[in-house]
Amino acid sequence: MPTSPHRFRLFAFSLLIAFLGTLSTAQARRASKDSGSSTTVVIDAGHGGYDRGGIAGQRVAEKDMTLDVAQRLKRVLAASGYRVVMTRDSDVFVSLGGRVAIANSYPNALFVCIHFNSAKRMGAGGIETYFYSRDSLPLASAIHYFVAGGAPSSNRGVRRRGYYVLRKTNIPAVLVECGFLTNPTEAAYAQTASYRQKLAEEIAAGVGGRNSVTSALTTARVATGENIPLQPYIDQTKVAKSERHRSKRSHKKSTRKKSSSKPAESETKAASKDQEG
Ligand SMILES: [Zn+2]
Repeated sequence: MPTSPHRFRLFAFSLLIAFLGTLSTAQARRASKDSGSSTTVVIDAGHGGYDRGGIAGQRVAEKDMTLDVAQRLKRVLAASGYRVVMTRDSDVFVSLGGRVAIANSYPNALFVCIHFNSAKRMGAGGIETYFYSRDSLPLASAIHYFVAGGAPSSNRGVRRRGYYVLRKTNIPAVLVECGFLTNPTEAAYAQTASYRQKLAEEIAAGVGGRNSVTSALTTARVATGENIPLQPYIDQTKVAKSERHRSKRSHKKSTRKKSSSKPAESETKAASKDQEG
């Protein structure tokens, strides 16, 4: 059981995520059909050009998977009436500052970053979703609810971390890691068009369902962006087992966080490394 106030907040956040898991799929699916007519979504396909993404020696290029899911997401959202803006729509390099500038030029938009994970340990797998600002939590929760629920991979939880593209954007911003390309099973899934289409549809369902999750948060009164601490590592699947291990890692992570100019790509890689030790 958590003893310190910090631990308690983590515990409360875990409860919140557990609560979100109990929302009926039908209810959320209904909400996801809300029209997107007045909403702009800026889709950010991670990496691109000379930045392949992932870790050294990785067989499947992350930049290709992120672009394909992003383009599918664009089509799904556009078909539902959303206005869609892409930070990149081909295999080109766009700086993190450039991505943020695009996002911030649409003040009422939502920002969705698509990434895939990697780790040295082949067995590492699962879906994780990141947010930073309190306004981004409902979108993160909703996207994670659908993607983690729709994927055969394990649920690694919603996490709060100061990635550059999440920290510097002025609009609700979420980064979803759609599975590990270094995991043979998840890489095989990612390489099928039908699975990438499924991912796009689940992310779109999360975008559409963001308001239903917001109201669930309000009703639950368990947690808001304000009382959720900056928490670099919340693994909902292994809370009890890795408690000690994790606090050491959190310490390391807070040291790293001080170099604020570090690009998100390195942070993503570092994150994967940390998660897998
Ligand atoms: Zn990435």
